[in-house]
Amino acid sequence: MQKYNFHTIPKTMPLTAKINPNDFFRPELASLNAYKVVNATGMIKLDAMENPYSFPEDMLNQWLASLKNCHLNRYPDPQACELKQLLQQVNQIPATCEILLGNGSDEIIQLLLMALPTTASVLAPAPAFVMYQQISRSLGLDYQSVPLTPDFELDLPAMLTAIQTYQPAIIFLAHPNNPTGNLFNLNAIKQIITASNGLVILDEAYAAFANSSFIPELEKYPNLLVMRTLSKLGLAGLRLGFIAGQPDIIASLDKIRLPYNINTLTQASAVFALSKPEMFAQQTQAICQQRTLVFKQLQTLDNIQVYPSSANFILFKTAPEQANIIFAKLKQHGILIKNLSPQGGLLSDCLRVTIGTELENKSFLNALKTILSELI
Ligand SMILES: *Cc1c(COP(=O)(O)O)cnc(C)c1O
Repeated sequence: MQKYNFHTIPKTMPLTAKINPNDFFRPELASLNAYKVVNATGMIKLDAMENPYSFPEDMLNQWLASLKNCHLNRYPDPQACELKQLLQQVNQIPATCEILLGNGSDEIIQLLLMALPTTASVLAPAPAFVMYQQISRSLGLDYQSVPLTPDFELDLPAMLTAIQTYQPAIIFLAHPNNPTGNLFNLNAIKQIITASNGLVILDEAYAAFANSSFIPELEKYPNLLVMRTLSKLGLAGLRLGFIAGQPDIIASLDKIRLPYNINTLTQASAVFALSKPEMFAQQTQAICQQRTLVFKQLQTLDNIQVYPSSANFILFKTAPEQANIIFAKLKQHGILIKNLSPQGGLLSDCLRVTIGTELENKSFLNALKTILSELI
């Protein structure tokens, strides 16, 4: 890497003069792209796995009233004690485990990877949640991936070989997986945890929509950590995630956590929201019912292959070379979903739709039917 000599910048340098970030930032940054979020103003937004429902009016008022007790002139509780306790209780985390909170689970992924030696390897299946790779690369870590089978199941022999070969310090498994939506074979996951000398992170971002969790397994496997987020449950705007595991591991991670990473409004709002489990259960149930309906409707369409989902989104495959066209035409109809086709591999020709309200889902399905009929 070229050494940058700051003294060569003249003090009178005009503001328009170019400086080259590659001269002083890590070389990995040059080849990275920023995480892009499409502007969805005025569109039916079915691209980001958000819960389509907001608080009913009476609850909105209760929430606002609860915020009156917040003192924004003071720093937040650095340990977020009340919130942590509540999260442990609500999620039935074993008493022998500790949890750490993050500004979204994205921040926890970053903390985990920041804690690794720069020579460490990270392993995940492909396709997987993009932040595993994005953050690994931004930190200059060796990121390895093993393709899923064509039906998006873990390729266990290939995973075990990769564990042998790369000795990954961390393995990420999203369960259900994003962007494919399926749960992995439980026995395969257990074999991966047992075979690994490093940590295995079970990312349960979609736990609310699935009937499977590794939280009860935490006490069996010392190298297992389970990560969850409130984002997909209906609180994406709060930015709150947590990870549960062995106290020593959590204590180590806590050393590199910024002291006030969970702000006062998030702490208060999450404590309030967690006291309303019935509302979230109702919304989750409605989303799961709609998921079944959308799945069945997609199954009836010619030239669409739809994959079963245990999450709040559905992945489907179009006829070859049609995904980009269908995605663009849906946008013209005012409907934003996610185009995964550019990622290639198993995701070629694949689109992902988040389950919205009944009305939103109908609009999506009607627009898709229209578009498909025009394509023939
Ligand atoms: C959305 C998502 C996350 C990140 O969630 P935040 O808590 O909003 O940062 C993590 N993992 C998976 C698999 C996700 O789909």
